[in-house]
Amino acid sequence: MRFKDIEGQRILINHLTEIIDSGRVSHAQLLLGPSSSGSLALAIAYAQYLNCENRQHYHGESDLRADSCGECPTCKKYQQLMHTDLHFVFPTATTSSGSSSPCSNEFIEQFREFLNNYHQTGTEDQWYEHLGIEKKQGMIRERDVDNIVRELGLKSYEGSYKVLIMWMAERMNIVAANKLLKTLEEPTDRTVILMVAESRDRMLSTILSRVQQIVVPGQGIEVSGSRRVEYAAMFVSWMRLLFKLNMQTLSAWVDKAAELGREPLKLFLKFAQESVRACYLKTAAGVELKDELAFGDEKFNSSFPAMITNNNVEQICNALNEAQYSIERNAYAKITLMQLSFRLSKAIKNR
Ligand SMILES: [Zn+2]
Repeated sequence: MRFKDIEGQRILINHLTEIIDSGRVSHAQLLLGPSSSGSLALAIAYAQYLNCENRQHYHGESDLRADSCGECPTCKKYQQLMHTDLHFVFPTATTSSGSSSPCSNEFIEQFREFLNNYHQTGTEDQWYEHLGIEKKQGMIRERDVDNIVRELGLKSYEGSYKVLIMWMAERMNIVAANKLLKTLEEPTDRTVILMVAESRDRMLSTILSRVQQIVVPGQGIEVSGSRRVEYAAMFVSWMRLLFKLNMQTLSAWVDKAAELGREPLKLFLKFAQESVRACYLKTAAGVELKDELAFGDEKFNSSFPAMITNNNVEQICNALNEAQYSIERNAYAKITLMQLSFRLSKAIKNR
């Protein structure tokens, strides 16, 4: 998987390749985002770039600053997901043909198939469907972690970084998570653990405190023209209201937003999420807001991004995400928006 094959996420990808090029690779990272964001594909492309023997750098001729070459021996093995130093762990469950204590190694062939079939953006449900266990809840178990520890402890086969990609890390059971902690505390040389999760709510705080967290925003937002101007104005007035939290003006805003209707409202929330993410990158990495993500309000453009920091970006993105799910499931829009406003207001003040 090369970065160029991933849809969107250009700002984040450019940020990641810059970090790799500077040699500041953190040995344990957590990519947080919905499956549709391409978080798993990003992890795979990240690992491929990290190990590529001939990293490509572009100078303005691409919206990417850099990418793996796709042609060196390492890239070729990575493209087939068959590199000896690339390991996967993911949730599994007992199947009619499998063993009674399943683990990822047992299902690696099916997992590669699944990655190929869904272009590495498949969801957890699609994975269980692929395994034919729709009604079960998968888990990452102690045995999986034992295997990881053993594999990561071995000498690298090809002198490259050994990479473990753990997909749906929130499915680790407590015993497995506690075992993994030790590995996180005592990293072996040239190993990188990339965890991919949709939500950190179910993860142990001791794990979270030992990994670098990277928020991957939801995807597929195409807002342009007059709708963009409308959404940007709505976003600016909403965020200002959240600081003052005047109930009367806030509920007027909520009434108006709810009138948008289900699909446009979902799109607006996605737009808000992308805006927040762009603000975060400005605060955290000095990445300027792109023209299409500036808010048409100079004062807001220059002051608001600083409100989005490491301390609240994930909380805000999660809240926006959950609200989209609720709206999708036909929840009452006004209540959803009101609750969301309180959550965001609290998070923004918590910078
Ligand atoms: Zn390469």
